[in-house]
Amino acid sequence: MDENSIKYERQRQEMVRRQIEARGVTDPKVLAAMHKVPRHLFVSDALRDQAYGDFPLPIGEQQTISQPYIVAEMTQALQPGKDDRILEIGTGSGYQAAILAEIVFRVYTIEKIYPLYTQSRKLFDKLRYHNIVTKYSDGTSGWENESPFDGIIVTAGSPIIPKPLVSQLAVGGRMVIPVGDLYSQELIKLYKDEHGIRKTNLGGCRFVKLVGEYGWRA
Ligand code: SAH
Repeated sequence: MDENSIKYERQRQEMVRRQIEARGVTDPKVLAAMHKVPRHLFVSDALRDQAYGDFPLPIGEQQTISQPYIVAEMTQALQPGKDDRILEIGTGSGYQAAILAEIVFRVYTIEKIYPLYTQSRKLFDKLRYHNIVTKYSDGTSGWENESPFDGIIVTAGSPIIPKPLVSQLAVGGRMVIPVGDLYSQELIKLYKDEHGIRKTNLGGCRFVKLVGEYGWRA
């Protein structure tokens, strides 16, 4: 370990304690993943020292890596299990996918901006996340061939819950998605069982927009 990795390790520990545990995230798998994944490698060199701050950061292409707490909250809400196959819409920096990859069997993640798709793929390879499968396309249509999924996480704000995603969710599956207008959304958790769909509202949030056939039109 060089000097920097010790510094970042310490910042990560503080982040988990002050931003995540203090706000009520309790799933030990989520806390361990947040403690392990080197978030500073998912932002540009110039932003490394801010990577563990309590806020989102720009990742280029007018997109952002979410605030650490939001990542932890959404991950916990998904109730990820070690045998799960999870679909993520909106790879972005790749950070959320890496957090999930620490916990579950396999993560499928879709990104529609090409440079973000290639950058994140390179980083997954470098960090040896062999259980992350990436795809360059409009994620609002989901990933039919690989469905059904035990969990689906949408990391961009949508005006509606995209129908294809609901149908690609397994019975017993969970979906977490920010739904609302362009300026603010509610984080919705959806649970599918043999009787149908149950929704709960986890509270307000603000994400960049989900652009696609079943999201916002470009
Ligand atoms: N999970 C990311 C957050 C990225 S921000 C992280 O951990 O860094 C949201 C991302 O969703 C952006 O990269 C944006 O390009 C992407 N996105 C928006 N609409 C999309 C769509 N229809 N399909 C796939 N990705 C989409």
